[in-house]
Amino acid sequence: MTTPSERDQRIVIVGAGHAGGAAAACLRQFGFAGEITLIGAESLPPYQRPPLSKAWLKGEAGAADLFLKPAGWYADNGVDLRTDSVVTTIDRPPRLVRLENGEVLGYDQLVLATGARARSLPIPGGDADGVFSLRSAADAEALKGRLGPGRRLAVVGGGYVGLEVAASARALGGEAVVVEREARILARVASAPLSAFFQSYHEARGVAFACGAQVEEIVGEGGRVRAIRLTDGRVLPCDAVLIGVGAIPNDELARAAGLECADGVVVDQQARTSDPSIFALGDLTWRPVPRYGRSCRLESVPNALEQARQMAAAVTGRPPPAPEVPWFWSDQYDIKLQIAGLPFDADMTVVRGDPRTAKFAIFHLAGSVVQAVEAVNAPAEFMAGKTLIAGKVAPDAVQLADAAIPMKSFLR
Ligand code: FAD
Repeated sequence: MTTPSERDQRIVIVGAGHAGGAAAACLRQFGFAGEITLIGAESLPPYQRPPLSKAWLKGEAGAADLFLKPAGWYADNGVDLRTDSVVTTIDRPPRLVRLENGEVLGYDQLVLATGARARSLPIPGGDADGVFSLRSAADAEALKGRLGPGRRLAVVGGGYVGLEVAASARALGGEAVVVEREARILARVASAPLSAFFQSYHEARGVAFACGAQVEEIVGEGGRVRAIRLTDGRVLPCDAVLIGVGAIPNDELARAAGLECADGVVVDQQARTSDPSIFALGDLTWRPVPRYGRSCRLESVPNALEQARQMAAAVTGRPPPAPEVPWFWSDQYDIKLQIAGLPFDADMTVVRGDPRTAKFAIFHLAGSVVQAVEAVNAPAEFMAGKTLIAGKVAPDAVQLADAAIPMKSFLR
């Protein structure tokens, strides 16, 4: 039951992305009856970013398809959504936020959900027309205008976003080359067998790769991109360049306010920062992952949703939700990759199924205990893998590798 004091509570959410939007929705779902103000720098209500590198580029989804909630939901649910609004300062202890437009808002509890931004690559020519990064719907719309039949795209950075865009460019009839500084694509985020699988899958669909290569210069003509020049002297002609070299947390507001930060804002399992009246969620946070007894920064939708629930439970006095095993997905061509867990301390990998069939899973074990699974078109391995990870189960590695033995037999 809501008490009069709860009704008087004011929550300000800074950042109207996936985490900020989910935070407002969870607060209402969990019965929070006070004021909610949701402030976002973008023009759109909270939306999903994953389709930006996939369905959006291929013209299969527009802005309204991506909205987390219908545009009218905010007014209907007493959420004061302010788009095109930027918070510039947090003043604690008076518990105020200041906006770029001069407005000042008081809060009882503040939720920071400012996300992350695409890392820039300071190279000569980087400001030429036709050089893009991809974080927002506006970025995706600009990039989309340069993709199409016969158009040549160079992707700098072989991470998930870069690979998804390369797949979309090929689907639209264009050419794509991926330049990766490390010896293999996905080096920071996937195992070597998975990198090898994705590289050959893309190559079979016409994407070219230059691994162990660095971009020295973006070559323009009349201010427009014409090619990229690599440090080994190669020149790759292109009409557009996507810089996809990772994201960095938008933690400047929190740092300026004196909140504890690492690689992002440090939070606990309730998504609370070092100031008990300030929560932080999503890509912005350096968060504990209880299953591994460690903290890290996670950039995924499930992470944003989990922390929104943690915060809303803490605010409304509900029991904290059970900790989740982190998970992530990526869609490329007809491939659905699902990853559960983090391969901390893994000393062994077990491949189940044959990568040549594009249906297989790679399990990462630490002292026989399953720490993570990378599942390619293998939902049963992903789902069961998640349970094995949560339960710290140590299956027999030889049996785990045998795709004829059902996954559910390991759950007993
Ligand atoms: P964001 O969604 O980035 O939202 C932060 C918001 O805060 C932004 O709108 C920003 O403008 C705003 N903001 C920042 N500073 C201020 C300020 N001072 N004042 C007001 N507003 C501010 N995850 C998956 O799990 N699977 C996928 O397949 C996947 N694909 C992706 C593809 C792309 C192209 C991208 C960019 C991301 C993808 N992700 C994927 C990651 C996922 O979208 C993010 O983890 C998620 O959006 C994080 O939510 P967030 O709210 O923390 O940050």
